[in-house]
Amino acid sequence: MTYTPHGRHLIAGEWVATETTFSSEPAHGPAHAFSVGTPDLVARACEAAEEAFWSYGYSSRADRAAFLNAIADEVEARGEAITRIGSQETGLPEARLQGERGRTTGQLRLFAAHILKGDYLDRRQDAALPDRQPLPRPELRMMQRPIGPVAVFGASNFPLAFSTAGGDTAAALAAGCPVVVKGHGAHPGTAEIVAEAIHAAIARTGMPKGVFSLVQGGDRAVGQALVQHPLIRAVGFTGSLAGGRALFDLCAARPEPIPFFGELGSVNPMFMLPGALAKRGADLGKGWAASLSMGAGQFCTNPGIAVVLKGPGADAFTEAARVALSEQGAQVMLTDGIARAYVAGAERLGAQAGVRDLLTSMCDRREAKPFLFRVAARDWLGNHTLSEEVFGPLGLVVVAEDEEQLLTVARSFAGQLTATLHMDAGDTMLARRLMPVLERKAGRVLANGFPTGVEVCDSMVHSGPYPASTNFGATSVGTLSIRRFLRPVCYQNIPEDILPLDLV
Ligand code: NAP
Repeated sequence: MTYTPHGRHLIAGEWVATETTFSSEPAHGPAHAFSVGTPDLVARACEAAEEAFWSYGYSSRADRAAFLNAIADEVEARGEAITRIGSQETGLPEARLQGERGRTTGQLRLFAAHILKGDYLDRRQDAALPDRQPLPRPELRMMQRPIGPVAVFGASNFPLAFSTAGGDTAAALAAGCPVVVKGHGAHPGTAEIVAEAIHAAIARTGMPKGVFSLVQGGDRAVGQALVQHPLIRAVGFTGSLAGGRALFDLCAARPEPIPFFGELGSVNPMFMLPGALAKRGADLGKGWAASLSMGAGQFCTNPGIAVVLKGPGADAFTEAARVALSEQGAQVMLTDGIARAYVAGAERLGAQAGVRDLLTSMCDRREAKPFLFRVAARDWLGNHTLSEEVFGPLGLVVVAEDEEQLLTVARSFAGQLTATLHMDAGDTMLARRLMPVLERKAGRVLANGFPTGVEVCDSMVHSGPYPASTNFGATSVGTLSIRRFLRPVCYQNIPEDILPLDLV
């Protein structure tokens, strides 16, 4: 089944085009023309979203759950065509896109079930105390309410699960917030066919048309207009630190600032403790290589840095990783720009003082091969560049002289999405000292596993202190991510017959 894009934007139920077009840049297959987004289209989408909020924001949880399930059904109905165009545009293998589609529909259905349970509303009640002295207490109730229209930026590296009908959109729609998506230029056809699925679900469930719009990119002015539009109340974003920070600053500088929930960069350090390295250093090296190069390393949870304690176990680990990585073939990257940034990042890292090349590669246009470097902890500690993310299959081994230096390295990391301990029973004392440090640095701390692979569930936290994210106190994956698009409202002495449905 093949889908031929028409190249238009979906604005409140209508497919519309502008005069100028940009071309998609597929990794393989035909390129297509897409209408360039404009601030005017953004304004139309935001106004329709605000209009839709007056009904959608007050819809029943059962109706919203039915809508989310209908989107999942419509995505599944277009499954094969989505996989084909997604793979052509991004170069990701079809099997990966099939898996990502399952994750996307699973996420939509999970949010449907989650809102039906109702716990997310966090309802509280303090009974009136009319006889309390010296002052009576009024009756107080509290509940989480949807924040209003939400802007979502599609991510380049997850064309389905973090894009048009991805986690941010699912969470916002579940909360009761209309969504305006800014499509990512890396996969405009995939964005369009998924928007077709949402469009069909809106018709099937009778939702207001302005509940969802897709504005394709082509011009930076689109994203800027979207985060600055006065009717947008919050932003969900996955992408680079530079892009995320620029948009975050625009949100903060608005006359009425709004929250910008950005999932940005991370090197996801792994701490390889000596007991684990002595027992299974080589196996850990192979495991690291597999995690590092999965999906051409284009995961925000890619474990780019392994911190080891000097010794034979560390040598076995490093050598096994080097051999496994050198056997990896070239992989197609998401865009030409991401491939260029990868090679430039590898060259920059390799040129730093004290950095030794263990594996360097020649990369053709849009292809990545792994790089592996080693550096002494002393040199790493003195050079901030060495802790920056290089998006792709690049690993850096940081060699600490002793436990104290390993702890100093741990304390020196900026905020991370994840931090990993590889440990055995004999490593417990050192691990216990590391835990309070890692907890302060990362949104998710894990032991004896690899951080790639983010479970979508109730306990997941996919965020971390800045610069890993700007999700202060929130997560962008899992059911808790709905909290980003809610705000608490207290109802004092409000008669039951005018309280919101969910409070009665
Ligand atoms: P990006 O450059 O941050 O772009 C993400 C989205 O934000 C795009 O829609 C982009 O629009 C928009 N945008 C960025 N800067 C903007 C600005 N100043 N004003 C208005 N809109 C802006 O990320 P990317 O395209 O996905 O990939 C580039 C780099 O990001 C990669 O090389 C990698 O380093 C990093 N990345 C990290 C993660 C992660 O999870 N850590 C994920 C993906 C990418 P345009 O396309 O129109 O510029």
